[in-house]
Amino acid sequence: MLKTFRIGGIHPHDNKLSKGTPIEVMPLPEKVVIPLSQHIGAPAQPCVSKGDKVKVGDLIGTANGFVSANIHSSVSGTVTAVDAQPDASGVRKPSVTIEVEGDQWNEHILRDATELPDLDAKGIIEAIAAAGIVGMGGATFPTQVKLSVPPGKKAEFLIINGVECEPYLTADHRVMLERPDELIAGVELLCRALQVSQAFIGIENNKPDAIKLLSQKAAAHNGATISVVPLKVQYPQGGEKQLIDAVTGRQVPSGALPIDTGAVVQNAGTALAVYEAVVKRKPLFERIITVTGKPLSAPRNLLVRIGTPIRSLIDYCGGMPDNVGKVIGGGPMMGRAACNLDAGVTKGSSGILLMDDRESSRGTQGPCIRCAKCVSACPMGLEPYLINVMTKKGMIAETEKLHPYDCIECGSCSYTCPAHIPLLDYIRLAKGEVMKIMRARKS
Ligand code: SF4
Ligand code: SF4
Repeated sequence: MLKTFRIGGIHPHDNKLSKGTPIEVMPLPEKVVIPLSQHIGAPAQPCVSKGDKVKVGDLIGTANGFVSANIHSSVSGTVTAVDAQPDASGVRKPSVTIEVEGDQWNEHILRDATELPDLDAKGIIEAIAAAGIVGMGGATFPTQVKLSVPPGKKAEFLIINGVECEPYLTADHRVMLERPDELIAGVELLCRALQVSQAFIGIENNKPDAIKLLSQKAAAHNGATISVVPLKVQYPQGGEKQLIDAVTGRQVPSGALPIDTGAVVQNAGTALAVYEAVVKRKPLFERIITVTGKPLSAPRNLLVRIGTPIRSLIDYCGGMPDNVGKVIGGGPMMGRAACNLDAGVTKGSSGILLMDDRESSRGTQGPCIRCAKCVSACPMGLEPYLINVMTKKGMIAETEKLHPYDCIECGSCSYTCPAHIPLLDYIRLAKGEVMKIMRARKS
């Protein structure tokens, strides 16, 4: 029997329209807008000024604190602005704008290198930090921080997240199929960084080609023991806590960290980025993005330079169709609506999804019929209907005992609700307010 997580879960249609489309290199844009905050933690500090010339891979923003990440130029050209620019949601963020001139790479990058360097754990983590690697599944947590296991905790094994359970997205699937040797080498480097000898690669059973290929590569690998774990298809199995449960049978208790189970989880795309950072000294300045949706004439998986305007990706895939109701950054379940298509893609951009008017419209909201479908769907064992009602009544402080801070914002409750109640909107509100109360209590 295939493994999966034990609490909640749903089965949305996977709509993987681009799963058979090989990765294509997107042509360079004329201009990039690179935000200095593309990660969880403090924004990077700019280290370039207007008028500076930069090459591909040059440092343009320096990590500002322990939880932060370096930012590098994704193009060669001239810096035309270091100021605040609206991101995809329209919120102004400190950014560096560069007009593209040619494609000159920083000489420090070893584009043809393939040998793993003889580095110890500290050396690998330093190389990852220098390259500005962050979790590429969307979490964007700085990777060097996640690999620095806190005192008193111990990593027992690495789990690679090859689940990609979000409908429509296929970027990780293509990485597993097209870059398997580099991915496996990245897994080895991550194991060395954590000083563990066992890694698991969790892949859902709707990607049998990736399961077969990576199982062969893992069996032939010399070094850490790497096992591919086929998983039953169930959303949100890509959630860190759900994946740990599915692969190891260990559950992360409320308030605890994933490392408390002995597991460190990294995304498949992150493992590839780690390989490139350590072996090629290549900073994270490009990534694979799925551009997809039913209205789009040619859904694709593109290798894109960070900071390329979202609009350019859509144009490259046939242009904006007339019937688009919404553009989403990410997948339909956890993604966010994009209102500024001139914003650049970031390290956390896994997909650009175009939804037509019908698919993007919300159903008419009705009263709660106490069916408990939201409770059955919630992978964190929460009571979404109750948090919703209490939040609407202004009883936000009282929701603390219902643990809204455990919500992983997977959207399963809203998806499953027959009354079309926007449960996640209210749970997010409760989560934010309760976390403020908890922080104030600690200080
Ligand atoms: S969005 Fe939050 S409350 Fe809703 S199902 Fe997911 S974890 Fe549960
Ligand atoms: S799924 Fe919707 S209608 Fe059913 S109990 Fe939850 S909130 Fe109420």
